[in-house]
Amino acid sequence: MKLLIASNNAHKIREIKEILGDLFDEILSLREAGVSADPEETGETFEENARIKAEAILQLTGCAALADDSGLEVDALGGAPGVHSARYCGRHGDDDANNALLLRNLAGVPAPRTARFVSAVALARPGQPTRICRGTCEGTVGFAPRGNNGFGYDPYFTPLGMDKTFAELPAEVKNGMSHRAHALAALRRSLEEEG
Ligand code: IMP
Repeated sequence: MKLLIASNNAHKIREIKEILGDLFDEILSLREAGVSADPEETGETFEENARIKAEAILQLTGCAALADDSGLEVDALGGAPGVHSARYCGRHGDDDANNALLLRNLAGVPAPRTARFVSAVALARPGQPTRICRGTCEGTVGFAPRGNNGFGYDPYFTPLGMDKTFAELPAEVKNGMSHRAHALAALRRSLEEEG
């Protein structure tokens, strides 16, 4: 079966191919498949948004589609930026401005500033109910950026039990313990159970 990934984020696509690659005949990003679609993420939860994106691509193409919706939940901010993580500062995907606003909103909050990355992955297939799985990665938000790898909030996020931020860790280490890795592993298990 061919699988379309409802994203053009190279980091996400690499992670998805690494974890699910052997379960599908072919895995293509939207760009590789020549599909252009940007469904509006109107959901209030990661799960709703992942479902909206995966089902929109299935409807448009007739192909199985996998979507991920992810973000950072900070306890001292009542779970913000949450589903608004990509556009926290008001502009979609402006990582520097998002991080600057996060730090401003956390000013005066002492360590440990507990937080978690959350990912919901949704798999929509023709004639079958959409499967949705969640994964999380617990950690803390720091006071200054460290490291150059990764994307988004990575330079500020130290996963529990580590002394390096996601941006200081090699991609293969981050990808082995990330929220998306856990969500994709749960999806993999549920597909394997299906037989
Ligand atoms: P999405 O593409 O709508 O799921 O938005 C995800 C947003 O959450 C990204 O733009 C990042 O700001 C943040 N995010 C999600 N996963 C990660 C990660 O692994 N590292 C850093 N930031 C992430």
